[in-house]
Amino acid sequence: MFLRSLKFLRKHIQLSLGLGRKVLHAMPVKWWGGLEYGIPSSQKTFLDLTKSKAINAPFYGNDCYSFIIMQRFNAGELSLQQTAEAYQKLYMERKNLILREVEKIRDEDVVFAFMHFPDILQHFLFTKPVKIKKHYFDLNNYVRTLKRKIDADVTFLIVSDHGFDLKTGTHSEHGFYSCNKHLDPKPEQITDFFKIIINESNAPNRT
Ligand SMILES: [Zn+2]
Repeated sequence: MFLRSLKFLRKHIQLSLGLGRKVLHAMPVKWWGGLEYGIPSSQKTFLDLTKSKAINAPFYGNDCYSFIIMQRFNAGELSLQQTAEAYQKLYMERKNLILREVEKIRDEDVVFAFMHFPDILQHFLFTKPVKIKKHYFDLNNYVRTLKRKIDADVTFLIVSDHGFDLKTGTHSEHGFYSCNKHLDPKPEQITDFFKIIINESNAPNRT
């Protein structure tokens, strides 16, 4: 039973250097790990359009350690338990990194910090909802600590770009957001945050 579920995970948690990369190879593109899609340089994100600081953000210098752990699991080099432990350790390091980097904020208008958690843990631990719940409680405490380091008048936004279905062990289309300010209109899609962030920043092209 255990081995079968490991096989299932190894089969399903895979990232390939797929066709997308081959097709786009002639264009300047920002990549993230082995994902098949990238951001063409002609497409600007809020990180390009504002005076910004990106903390380990996908496509903007993310170190891909979470993918490396996944690849080692897929190659059979790490057991499920070793993988979960490696992710726990990485999660602790990520929390500290963001706190350290937030201390260094000077005159940036947008600071974007990325954490591959809880997503990546849920891929491996979706059959253990108690552990997932514990992780969410910990994240909740962490956000409180982080928020204390940021001035109260600064817009503080937490966004997930998708949810997770614990029954199927796959992403769901329901995301989550939380903000210390009332957002009007209410964002309904992940792309709605682009305009919100541009408007909240001092970018010259805000509307
Ligand atoms: Zn995921």
